[in-house]
Amino acid sequence: MTDYILETKNLTKTYGDKQAIDQVSIQIKRGAIYGLIGRNGAGKTTLLKIISGLAFQTDGEVLLFGERTAKTSNLLERVGVLIEAPGLYPNLTAYENVRLKCIAYGINREGYITSLLEQVGLDYTGEKKTRHFSLGMKQRLGIALALVGEPDLLLLDEPANGLDPQGIIEIRGVLLKLSKEQNITIIISSHILEELAKIVTRIGIIDEGKLLEEIDKEELFEKTKDKIEIKTENVERTIVVLEEQFGIEKLKVIDQETLYVYEKIEESGAINKALVNAEITIHSLAINRESLEDYFINLTGGGSRV
Ligand code: ATP
Repeated sequence: MTDYILETKNLTKTYGDKQAIDQVSIQIKRGAIYGLIGRNGAGKTTLLKIISGLAFQTDGEVLLFGERTAKTSNLLERVGVLIEAPGLYPNLTAYENVRLKCIAYGINREGYITSLLEQVGLDYTGEKKTRHFSLGMKQRLGIALALVGEPDLLLLDEPANGLDPQGIIEIRGVLLKLSKEQNITIIISSHILEELAKIVTRIGIIDEGKLLEEIDKEELFEKTKDKIEIKTENVERTIVVLEEQFGIEKLKVIDQETLYVYEKIEESGAINKALVNAEITIHSLAINRESLEDYFINLTGGGSRV
């Protein structure tokens, strides 16, 4: 059996003369939480739609569970999908919404609907109609609907979009639990790397339809590793101490009082002491992690094209 639950090979999709997806080849391992990161219009939704059979590629192929998918493939039954807003019946309760999908799937098992609602933390909603649900509750119900039929692969397109911080935390909790307890493979898209990095195991960075990089979370954190931020009354003299006493070369002057040091992080205490001994007033000296967003923006060329 293949290790990969999903592979795409040179997947391409054009709309007129617009290349929405351009030769994308990805490989996703069973049990992964794979984050697809890209700006608006990068091609995330199109890619997820092709994988789930809601759109069809112009070229290239998709392999699900090691087999090539076709338009009528029953492999797609093993894929749960939440793309854009969930299609909910506003005048029905959470239970009734899930029940309708279960009927459509021919599932009639005692306690099944309640267990799905429990998994997304909505088992308490009782008679409340979904039109009165918060956006976060609606998204979680959308996940419950995507879980009907016990999919092996869950595709979620920007599930945290528009949610408040509490709603985002709740969705994150639901996904981590699903991954841990049921070993479901999850692909989740977002335009915020910082947010994705909190739950994913691996990340694919997509821009203008092209997959720019695939990277494990650990590797990403390694790349965006720590630096020392020094706020000093005298940048020039501080640099002299760093160079002469510590041999530091990897540093950057940010402004008249701020310096970033990218090496000898573990010696930050000694550096602080040496600067004080040299009678340089240090306003602050702290270890900082380079922002993941900086990394993403650098990779995609920066700036917004929206
Ligand atoms: P967003 O977060 O804004 O949805 P995205 O990364 O999901 O962005 P897609 O929706 O996949 O991006 O769109 C990729 C490109 O393909 C965009 O330039 C978009 O305008 C174009 N596109 C998507 N769907 C269609 C369509 N049905 N017809 C024509 N162009 C389309």
